[in-house]
Amino acid sequence: MKEYNKEELISKYKEYLMPSVHTSFSEPLCLERGEGEFLYDVDGNKYLDFYTGIMVVISGHCNEKVTKAVSDQIQKLQHSTSFFINRPVVELAEKLAEITPGKLKQSFFVNSGSEAVEGAINLAQIYTKNNTVIGLQHGYHGRTLLTKTLTAISAWRQGATNISDIRYTPSAYCYRCPFNATPENCDVVCANYLNEVIQTQTSGEIACVVAETIQGVGGLITPPKDYFKILTEITKRYGGLLIIDEVQTGFGRTGGKMFAIEHYGVEPDIMTMAKGLANGFAIGAFISEQEIASCFAGPSVSTFGGNPVSAAAAVANIEYIEENDILTNSERMGSILKEKLLQLKEKYSIIGDVRGRGLYWGLELVKDKKTKEPAWEEAERMTQLCKDEGLIIGQSGSWFHVLRLGPPLNITEDRIGEGIEMLDLAFSRLK
Ligand code: PMP
Repeated sequence: MKEYNKEELISKYKEYLMPSVHTSFSEPLCLERGEGEFLYDVDGNKYLDFYTGIMVVISGHCNEKVTKAVSDQIQKLQHSTSFFINRPVVELAEKLAEITPGKLKQSFFVNSGSEAVEGAINLAQIYTKNNTVIGLQHGYHGRTLLTKTLTAISAWRQGATNISDIRYTPSAYCYRCPFNATPENCDVVCANYLNEVIQTQTSGEIACVVAETIQGVGGLITPPKDYFKILTEITKRYGGLLIIDEVQTGFGRTGGKMFAIEHYGVEPDIMTMAKGLANGFAIGAFISEQEIASCFAGPSVSTFGGNPVSAAAAVANIEYIEENDILTNSERMGSILKEKLLQLKEKYSIIGDVRGRGLYWGLELVKDKKTKEPAWEEAERMTQLCKDEGLIIGQSGSWFHVLRLGPPLNITEDRIGEGIEMLDLAFSRLK
């Protein structure tokens, strides 16, 4: 490997990668290594990581158990393809059937979240013999043609979005309710509106509704407790399947439960996952109940799907979560983080809303609390100011105006305190 310095890395990155492979910060962060909740750049600077590579490294960077499982597997078998069986993929599939909600049982392994959502929709269309797919406004599902078309945030829809059988229904964006209602008086009109969408924009029969439990890229939009019950009931009424996209929210991210949808008492027909599944190794999956999966018997293959190294990482990662009671930690640390973020909201008027669950939080920044004009430049400056303090956070929201926080799920109270101190300092420096 060539020993490029930081300047060379940045200039070659810009020369040889497409400009759409966007980097954060005024000067891109060039990473050297990670350890637990910390990242180190090529100049040796240390950062507390409250972003975990977009909610991926849930068990900490270079987690010992995951690293050992990977290095053991690498000595034995590195690739198989889905035409052949390897040990880790069998163990992983069995484990997923055990830890996912309801009757979800049979998995299909792929390499990314986009592919997982794409595969889940294909399955729903085959099963229902219908093509119409309904997504949620402010939803993000990937960058393949289908998932980009399903994504309902204009910034992430560059290029063709020409899949015709897709419709959109409102998400539960209570802070900017499209119906001008408040959670106290709304009767969850956003969820009920799905009925209108189906009756006026479809033939009356649908393949599926696809929803993130918490809309991450959309800005941590966190639905009220009845949202998914209503969505499920209406989806079933018109013959559709409910696909829940847990690519960001799975594996304990939202505290107390393995998957965020479990907080809502709803069992999806198909669920997608990726990101946190293998703590940083490339893998994605969709899982459904057996009866649904059984209609998808024609051949389908994923060359890298179910790769033994990624599968071994995923098994070790899930075992780590279970053995260390990470779900309890993410719930407990999450409530501490929530309290501290609410205190910051009292202190800084630019914070319009604080929302999320477990160890997944968003701070919506607004120029003025009355007009709620999105403060995206300030959000961008905040991520930079945090980095200058030694804290990595993310930026999301349909107008890039939401700060996104997601530390590793094994984080301690002391580290949460340190992160909040840096965030507080950054807010104090924001002019
Ligand atoms: N679904 C959700 C909810 C996501 O957040 C993402 C990625 N941010 C995707 C799907 C696509 O995942 P990937 O980038 O791995 O294709």
